[in-house]
Amino acid sequence: MSDNLEAFFSAVAKALGADSVNRSEETIRRYAENTMAGGDVRPSGVVYPRSTSDVQTCVQLANQYKAPLYPISTGYNIGLGSRSAARQGQVILDLGYRMNRILEIDDKLAYAVVEPGVSYQALYDELVRRGNKLMLDVTSGPPQGGMIGNALDKGAGYTPYFDHFGFSCGLEIVLGNGAILRTGDGALNSETLANWHTSKYSFGPILDGLFAQSNYGIVTRMGVWLLPRPPVVRSFHFAFPEDDDLEQVIDLCRPLKMSNFVPSLFRVSNDLYLCGSEGESPDYRISKGKTSIPDEARRALREKHGLGAWNVSGAFYGPSTAALEPMVQRVREHFGQSGKARYIDHADAAAIPPLQVAINAFAGIPSLGELGLLKWRPGGGNLWFLPGTPMDGKIANDFQRICRGVYEQYGMDYTVMNVCGPRFARGLHVITFNREDADERARADACYRKMSEEVARRGVFVGRAPIQYHDFHMGQAMPAYRDACHSVKTALDPNGIIAPGRYGIG
Ligand SMILES: Cc1cc2nc3c(=O)[nH]c(=O)nc-3n(C[C@H](O)[C@H](O)[C@H](O)COP(=O)(O)OP(=O)(O)OC[C@H]3O[C@@H](n4cnc5c(N)ncnc54)[C@H](O)[C@@H]3O)c2cc1C
Repeated sequence: MSDNLEAFFSAVAKALGADSVNRSEETIRRYAENTMAGGDVRPSGVVYPRSTSDVQTCVQLANQYKAPLYPISTGYNIGLGSRSAARQGQVILDLGYRMNRILEIDDKLAYAVVEPGVSYQALYDELVRRGNKLMLDVTSGPPQGGMIGNALDKGAGYTPYFDHFGFSCGLEIVLGNGAILRTGDGALNSETLANWHTSKYSFGPILDGLFAQSNYGIVTRMGVWLLPRPPVVRSFHFAFPEDDDLEQVIDLCRPLKMSNFVPSLFRVSNDLYLCGSEGESPDYRISKGKTSIPDEARRALREKHGLGAWNVSGAFYGPSTAALEPMVQRVREHFGQSGKARYIDHADAAAIPPLQVAINAFAGIPSLGELGLLKWRPGGGNLWFLPGTPMDGKIANDFQRICRGVYEQYGMDYTVMNVCGPRFARGLHVITFNREDADERARADACYRKMSEEVARRGVFVGRAPIQYHDFHMGQAMPAYRDACHSVKTALDPNGIIAPGRYGIG
């Protein structure tokens, strides 16, 4: 450890109290952990601020001692880095541990204001406690994941308020130069702010976007918009039998989203994305993870769980089941045109655990079910590859064939959910691998890189990435984009003390 870091930790302990710093071996090991192929990333220590003013103190001291800080909210970014830093030796600033208050819930205007440690589960529980009149959009990932960390990483859910950064409103940020910035109407130089968390478009440039997937500042407060909870959430599901049915599925989903007839996003999941959360691969012990699961084994899993090669899920919201029934019927007729879609109604889907996960996601209820995907192969390795496709069935199916082929080339199991809007679908590709097996780890890494190159050659960038690939992806960006990102970094964080390397910046 350099003298600078020693001096930094001493200064923080003096300013914030000795219990605000932890550098024990056990803690360092815990914060180093992740599920990535590139290995753990050991920080030099962990700091636990209590307030925005504590964060400001940490930033000032980090500038003084040239100590690199890596802020996290709750650190449940599983498959994308968990709680580990961009580079070895950075200081984890664990905001969520002590800054975990729900600062405000406005029932009339339907928004909440949260600190970094507020998880989906915590806000959900509080809304239920207050009468369950408001609904928040959740992920189908870990319920302990934080709303600020997720929004800043451009995370998303599945209800009409799916876009977590888009439906955030009003940030408070400690910049790398130590200044405190409020965005939106919060930029007004006043003690009283009426519209900080109700109006996103205010005077001047929209600065909020600079703090998503970057390292220009540390967000200490965020407004988040909520939906009035509808009395009834009614899901519908269709199973398609063949891998290449994706073409038809995408072309069927598009008009329903383009007209906004279906208000939720569509979850279009392949067999392994759903069956994969229900237990370890039945093939792994036979193939020793050297080859992809055979088609017969996939078919057997589909039969066991009552699912298809592709499975479409969506939902309607309304005052009663009866009021929503005509809409469900119209969707049934629409998918019926395919001649092969098998309809699964809301009640039957609720008895199939991976479809119950979808129902929970549409209803804004955090749930644990999808975390079963982490155990599909032993050894805890998990990477998410997140490209996207235009909502054009032929193009989407071509990408499916390419990515499936790469998974098979490296002996991985093709596991994907396409989350579909009107024009674009994000392809959530899961690479689950045995992280304790060096060969399998290397193949998972090679699979990720090869897919990134293959889709980039066809004009597709990723929308979010595991932290070990941030430099790699920034290398795929046009030079003017890279230069602009670095120029903003220099302007807002001249000593480069916030998360150097995150998203390939600094
Ligand atoms: C099975 C499974 C399913 C999943 N499903 C989804 C899903 O449906 N949707 C989805 O979006 N994700 C999903 N995820 C991914 C992930 O778990 C979540 O995105 C998680 O909620 C991230 O939130 P967090 O607070 O834990 O993030 P953190 O780990 O705290 O933060 C993420 C990153 O953002 C930056 N950051 C965090 N807080 C701040 C701050 N205050 N200031 C500046 N920078 C900050 C840091 O660089 C940090 O590394 C899934 C994961 C798994 C394993």
